[in-house]
Amino acid sequence: MRSEDKKKDMPSPEEFQKQLSDFMKQNFSGFGFPGVGTPTAKQDTPTSSESESHESSIEDLMDFDHRPKDVKAYLDRFVIQQEEAKKVLSVALCDHYHHVRLALEGKEAPNYAKQNIILIGPTGVGKTYLIKSVADLIGVPFVKGDATKFSETGYVGSDVEDLIRELYRRSDNDIKRAQFGIVYLDEVDKIAMAETGAGSRDVSGRGVQTNLLKLMEETEVSVRSPQDVAGQIQAMMDAQRGGKSASTINTKHVLFIVSGAFDGLEPIIRRRMSETTIGFATTRNESMASDETLEQVETKDLIEFGFEPEFVGRLPVRVVCKSLEVDDLFHILQTSEGSIIRQYEQDFAAYGIDILFKAEGLRRIAEMAVDEKTGARGLMTVCERVFRNFKYELPSSDVKRFEVTREVVDCPADELKKLLAEQSKKEREVAGEILEEFASRFEESHGIRIQIDQGAQSHLVNLSIEKGIPMRDLWLDRFKDYQFGLKLIAQNTGQKTFVIDEKAARDPDKRLSEWVVASYQDKEKKAASPESDVSA
Ligand code: ADP
Repeated sequence: MRSEDKKKDMPSPEEFQKQLSDFMKQNFSGFGFPGVGTPTAKQDTPTSSESESHESSIEDLMDFDHRPKDVKAYLDRFVIQQEEAKKVLSVALCDHYHHVRLALEGKEAPNYAKQNIILIGPTGVGKTYLIKSVADLIGVPFVKGDATKFSETGYVGSDVEDLIRELYRRSDNDIKRAQFGIVYLDEVDKIAMAETGAGSRDVSGRGVQTNLLKLMEETEVSVRSPQDVAGQIQAMMDAQRGGKSASTINTKHVLFIVSGAFDGLEPIIRRRMSETTIGFATTRNESMASDETLEQVETKDLIEFGFEPEFVGRLPVRVVCKSLEVDDLFHILQTSEGSIIRQYEQDFAAYGIDILFKAEGLRRIAEMAVDEKTGARGLMTVCERVFRNFKYELPSSDVKRFEVTREVVDCPADELKKLLAEQSKKEREVAGEILEEFASRFEESHGIRIQIDQGAQSHLVNLSIEKGIPMRDLWLDRFKDYQFGLKLIAQNTGQKTFVIDEKAARDPDKRLSEWVVASYQDKEKKAASPESDVSA
């Protein structure tokens, strides 16, 4: 067989994956691997969450007794604005975990409708932050995924079940904890593709919705990915040996929160509202702010937007997060416990530098951040730009504190230059004072007065700063022979005052020896004509 023919017969990695998975399904499905048969091509984890939430045990959940107002008060510490969203979320979360508590006690109400949530809002306004903070407070695992990463089959993207497996991983492989976690799925609007050009809906998006629907209702997800063939075989062998059988996570009590910007939803709501209202109400609809309109969202609007009715039906709680204005961004910087400026304070403190943010500086950062149009994320972009060179230069300078004024935010490069120049001016003054102190100590110890002129002083200060040598060491090293030399000259000529000029500062030994030679010549001259005056 020619090598091209061989290649033709060879399955692609995806085909191979499918064949392997089908094989596993056919041969080992009796061993209880419910995940088998839904292969994924990519093994990348669906999460982008920054940190894991603090752990709570199932016993903690059994003690769950938070009230919505307490949860909201907790959220207020971190999340600025989004009042309505914080309230609605607090209520939904409390309801959900009270229900979980009852379920754990075996007192679950029949037909309880899970409080899954749709969060509508532009990017960077705190949607993830809200959910992450709440998960931290309750102490349940939290996973964030991106709906655009999933495909119906899993062959060309991740499988939605990977989200549940990630919950398991984040619960330190504790199935019980994973079963009460929170799955947060962003960009869900992208899988609600409305009519495509051909008049039919995007098939893949609908498939992903169906898969998600299964998770939201109740299903069992294997802790092992079907792609993890070695793990599957290992589990099968364990099961055969009578060991622990393959484990599954039940999704009944996993809370699902989906979010997105939902561009295009607002006109749908407006249209529906104008059709159902008349006269004065219509005028009001037209003047309604975008956020206010979105708050009026109804199930039929979401279906028209492109979601399957069953999918929307499983997401009964709808919350709108508003766009953030300059004032909001300013408050985020100034008051949120998660404010990015705390991070800058810490970063500079690591080098022993105090950074003081003036209110005017913070407001200017907020003004610039609004122009970025990425919500509070714009704050990070602006701060990074403003402080980039400060972070690079200051740790190697002697600057120990600085203020962030409006000017610093507007012209960071100029202000940094000024700061460094001011610092070196101060440094020069101090170095000059140190030199004067040496001179006076020299006089006290040896009875010889030294005057360091301007030229010498500036040369020595430059040298000390450029080479990073303390003035004390520089002085002792360069002028170590002066004590003896100057005493000698004083003996020869009676001279008691010496001026260290720039020449002496540049080449102290040469200058000293010139002076010594001159003093001997002077001495000889005086010896030759003893009547002349010898005073210095
Ligand atoms: P998104 O709405 O896109 O999920 P995030 O919640 O991830 O945005 O926001 C990004 C970051 O911006 C957060 O980690 C947080 O530091 C900050 N942030 C965003 N919105 C707020 C807010 N309303 N209050 C305080 N900080 C916020």
